[in-house]
Amino acid sequence: MPDKKGKVYLVGAGPGDEGLLTIKASEVISRADVIVYDRLVSDSILSKIPDHIEKINVGKSAGNHPVPQQEINRILAEKALEGKTVVRLKGGDPFVFGRGGEELEFLYEKSIPFEAIPGITSALGAAAYAGIPATHRDYCSSLHIITGHSGKNGKLNIDYASFVKLNGTLIFMMAVSTFSQIANGLIKAGMNPETEAAVVENGTRSYQRTFLSKLCEIPKVIAANHVQSPAIIIVGKVCSLSERLDWFSRLPLKGCRILVTGPKTTSGKLASGLGELGAHIVEYPCIRTEPLDFRLDIREYNWLIFTSAVGVAAFFNKLYESKLDSRALCHKKVAAVGPQTAEELLKHGIYADFVPSIFDSRHLGEELIKRNKITSKDKIILFRAKDGTQELIDILENNHISYTDVPVYKTVYIKNEKIDVEQFNYVTFTSESCVKSFAGSLADTVDYSKVHAICIGESTAKAAKAYGMNTIVSDMATIPSMVAKITEVYHAN
Ligand code: SAH
Repeated sequence: MPDKKGKVYLVGAGPGDEGLLTIKASEVISRADVIVYDRLVSDSILSKIPDHIEKINVGKSAGNHPVPQQEINRILAEKALEGKTVVRLKGGDPFVFGRGGEELEFLYEKSIPFEAIPGITSALGAAAYAGIPATHRDYCSSLHIITGHSGKNGKLNIDYASFVKLNGTLIFMMAVSTFSQIANGLIKAGMNPETEAAVVENGTRSYQRTFLSKLCEIPKVIAANHVQSPAIIIVGKVCSLSERLDWFSRLPLKGCRILVTGPKTTSGKLASGLGELGAHIVEYPCIRTEPLDFRLDIREYNWLIFTSAVGVAAFFNKLYESKLDSRALCHKKVAAVGPQTAEELLKHGIYADFVPSIFDSRHLGEELIKRNKITSKDKIILFRAKDGTQELIDILENNHISYTDVPVYKTVYIKNEKIDVEQFNYVTFTSESCVKSFAGSLADTVDYSKVHAICIGESTAKAAKAYGMNTIVSDMATIPSMVAKITEVYHAN
């Protein structure tokens, strides 16, 4: 056994919205060796965890039963004793009905080092996303978070009379199945049955549902709407504020579920743009890019052509490795396929001389020649993906332009676990290779006619159509344009 002991970080993941993960939590997750997570940690947070980190789901085992607490403790200790950095990731806050205390007691007994990183409890997070302030000066002077889970004897242990007397906001957790008993208890102890109340199911997630009602009606509301765990039930006058303050349900993509297939390194912008509008994002990276070694000799060329931001990054990495910098591009002309590529160039101090009016290979080739009066005297060098589209090459060849095609990175298909694509309103594709790899992972387990593919350009759409997907092409080949297109089509439906 190595003498270096690892450490366990008990971390709260918050109620679901990945934006509610704290900076400290993200930081320890990014350097963890192992993540041991619960059922309540949302998919969108799990999909952000880098692939090389071992993930252990203790929310469910083979028989669909949660892994027993003792076994979880054993896993934490075993991994830490192997010298690993272990993140024990829990929904909400680990110390609010999360058994975090019990796990740390166990680690303490074993002399295993630990830290606790609090999270936003769903009791407050779900309330905030329903437009319900947990306290408000005009309505209450205390707040109580209560479990509706019955004890070992099968009985609830709630002192109804005390809570009624205190007149504070009551937030019940784990109470979906026991709430009729709780409502009766409160009413019998003297609470006005007409007291404002609310149920918030899947709080802070795009598919959150909020029901506003009265204490005596809540059990009916739960039954009629088939409310499922996880949900909180809030009792108190503050619930009346939701009508005015429920900002979340008014976001333009609220309720929209989107699968994002681009590579992990570049799909963040798309995912966060959609997430800010209230969409529920699941990242399903279908490709990754790997830099290739290449010979960097640009002396004889007067035009440098870049067809992706990844290509630009690979080019400059090579340049810097060769102890050169952007001065090597002095007196050269530079073309970029679109604004993202141009933006990446600018990061390295190069302003693109040419960007076509439509951001695809065809327009890049055609307009480059026409608008820049390129002739057979010019010497062009392309830095792009291995096996990049033939279209650009054909255009150059048909116009008798001499060129050198330098593959600077390659695209690798990722074989993903199967996913139920029908639960998504849209699937986004930012390249043909994403489409092909996506279809490679799912093979014929999917009825592609049920997939609504949002594609960045015509060639991506063509690839998606070939599988029988419904395709929608963004007006421009940019991420903001894809976000705008999704918002437009979601509202048109
Ligand atoms: N430690 C967690 C609570 C765990 S107990 C926290 O601080 O949030 C599990 C209960 O939490 C569920 O039964 C439900 O009442 C509540 N809960 C967890 N996530 C929720 C969510 N996203 N929306 C509403 N309630 C949630």
